[in-house]
Formats: sequence, C-alpha cells, structure tokens
Amino acid sequence: TVTRTVLALDALTVGYAGAPVVDRLTLDVAPGDVVALLGANGAGKTTLLRTVSGLLVPRSGRVLLDGDDLTTTPVEERARRGLAQVPEGRSVVAELTVEENLTLGALWKVPGRRARRAAIAELYEQFEPLARRRRALGHQLSGGERQMLALARALVSQPRVLLLDEPSLGLAPRVVAQLMGVLRDTARRTGLTVLLAEQNVTSALSVADRGVVLALGKVVADAPAADIAADPALRHAYLGF
Ligand code: ATP
Repeated sequence: TVTRTVLALDALTVGYAGAPVVDRLTLDVAPGDVVALLGANGAGKTTLLRTVSGLLVPRSGRVLLDGDDLTTTPVEERARRGLAQVPEGRSVVAELTVEENLTLGALWKVPGRRARRAAIAELYEQFEPLARRRRALGHQLSGGERQMLALARALVSQPRVLLLDEPSLGLAPRVVAQLMGVLRDTARRTGLTVLLAEQNVTSALSVADRGVVLALGKVVADAPAADIAADPALRHAYLGF
C-alpha cells in the first residue's frame, strides 16, 4: 500500500542553550490524521510545534510539507503553504470584535471581501457560540469563547495542517468537550490534518486518530488513540494517570 504523507519530521533536533529538547525526532503524518502529541510538562511538545510552524529553527533534521523541505522557510511562507498554528494562550485581538478578528485571520489567505464573508459565515455555522457573540470585543469573551475564536481564526484561512498547543488549558470540562467536538467535526468534514499538543490526555485522545507520546524529546509511543487510552502501563509511565 502507498502511504501518503502531508507532514514529515525527519530526525529533528531542537534545543535552546543546553541539551536538546527535541532529540532526533522522526514522525510522518498522513493527510486528515488528527494526532495527539502527549507527554509530561517539559517533554518538548511546544518546542516541536514551534519548529514545525517555523518559530524555531532546528539544530539538525528537516521539516517537510508535501515533500518540500521547509526547515528554514519563514513562518509567513509556511502559513501561505497551509500550515497554521494556534499558540498556547488563546491570543485574539482584545480591541477588535469577534468578526473583525476573523476577518483579520482571513485577510491574507482568502482574497476578496465576498469570499471572506462567505468563509466567515461558514465558520459561524460550526462555531455557534461565536456567531452569537460576533459583535463582542475580544476582551469581553470568556476563556472558552476566546479559545474558540483563536481556533476559528486559524481555520478561516483554510489551512491544511493545523498546529494546536494546549487548547484546553484552564477551560472548564464542558467547554473543553465543546471545543474538541468542533475540532473533530471540522477534521472529519474537511480532511484537515491536526497536530494537537495536550496535557489533557483524555480529551486529546477523544478526538485523535493517533497518539504520539513524547518523553525527553523522543517518541516513546506511537499508536492508535484507542490503544494508548487503553494502555495503563503507558499512561502510568508517561502520562501521569
Ligand atoms: P508544556 O506543556 O509545559 O508546554 P512541553 O512539552 O510543551 O511542555 P516545551 O515547552 O517544549 O515542553 O519545553 C521543553 C523544555 O525546553 C523544558 O525543559 C523547558 O524548560 C525548555 N524550554 C522551553 N522554552 C525555552 C526557552 N525559550 N528557552 C530555554 N528553554 C526553554
């Protein structure tokens, strides 16, 4: 069988001052796959996502999108090629409305006002809480609404690969469930490929097809999400429950 790969990480080594934080990490992601990146605090998840999006340049190894080497390609060019990152912390523009934030997200990727309006209208259908709050300012939103807006703003540019860092952080379980539901529906409907870094293992595995567990910058497990959820030894050793 032919396995197609949209995103390939090839022997990536990334670090700051001292020892590497991501250590010769290799990972192939198939189109439409939702991959949960798991591992304890400090395992290297954020560092890995930042290397894929282009905020960090690896010491060695390569990042490939559709087989093209993007290892040293600037962030904006990667974004143009379909990589979108939602960083930790639900950054939205506080002084702009929900709708203005979404328009901003669409500005470069969706040319033409009419097309942008259509793209935003489509998002509102999936993100009903945002539709209700379209005239609210960023700073007036709840944590859950802000995270939803950060996600929607990344999706409005119609990326092919979405990088999500800890979207559940600090949100109530009900809000996390709603967010993960939207993410799962979007992935199924559009074939979006997702790399989802999460400390919230249960939530992440509930939307993911595949779980990749990192420890000390290396992949220590890579299996279907259901298998990881059902492996007590693995959970106990690396995931803390
Ligand atoms: P978290 O869930 O806390 O985000 P993580 O798995 O995403 O954890 P990273 O944030 O990638 O892990 O951090 C991995 C290691 O790199 C940690 O030991 C951290 O202290 C270190 N580190 C992260 N960012 C920097 C930085 N800017 N400068 C120096 N060291 C850093």
